[in-house]
Amino acid sequence: MLSVNNLKVAYGGIQAVKGIDLAVHAGELVTLIGSNGAGKTTTMKALTGTLAAQSGEIEFLGQSIKGRGAWDLVAQGLAMVPEGRGVFTRMTIIENLQMGAYVLTGASAKAQIADDIEKAFVTFPRLKERKDQLAGTMSGGEQQMLAMARALMSRPKMLLLDEPSMGLSPIMVEKIFDVVRDVRAQGVTVLLVEQNAKLALQIADRAYVMESGLITMSGAAKDLLDDPRVRAAYLGE
Ligand code: ATP
Repeated sequence: MLSVNNLKVAYGGIQAVKGIDLAVHAGELVTLIGSNGAGKTTTMKALTGTLAAQSGEIEFLGQSIKGRGAWDLVAQGLAMVPEGRGVFTRMTIIENLQMGAYVLTGASAKAQIADDIEKAFVTFPRLKERKDQLAGTMSGGEQQMLAMARALMSRPKMLLLDEPSMGLSPIMVEKIFDVVRDVRAQGVTVLLVEQNAKLALQIADRAYVMESGLITMSGAAKDLLDDPRVRAAYLGE
């Protein structure tokens, strides 16, 4: 579904991503782990067209998407939940969800959107309780749920999640990871960037490890979970 070849991204003279290859197949849950500054967020931004790639190729559903804008990619089925959630703070929960559905158009869009909002409320009951609250007044965990629900409103084929566990309590992290599992069970392909390597490797099928702008290890998530180098560097053992 997604294929990345020799991707390089730089900020001026700083080479943040130095030529990486990765692939995500339809139906998979793949995680990209690595420490601070490894280049994970930069990679995600290049995939979603919020940052220009210096060189390399990015294909989604067999077509090059390099240079395409994020708004365009959402319409193709590639949605992103950014690091830091990025909710519209001065809009209500309902309004944020409606914004996520901007790609649905046509005569049946209104009914589809109403239906999808009801589905989001089943997955995230807390959002239903707070539906008229301004998003900026919600807790970090609630905002993370909203950001995920908003992305799902575009009916994506693939969801890119950047550090959904960041700044959340352990209980909230468990809840968010349960939702990631559910989303995948519903047939959405997932690429998950995480610093919480243990949890990410526990729910993923495959994983890539990124260090200083390069992919240094990859394989089945369960194998990496047992790998002594991963255990020492990322699982604190
Ligand atoms: P974290 O887990 O801490 O978010 P990360 O793996 O997502 O880290 P990136 O945010 O992609 O890492 O950063 C990769 C490198 O690029 C870092 O050295 C960072 O300082 C640098 N970088 C990121 N954003 C910019 C920017 N806007 N201008 C210059 N350098 C940047």
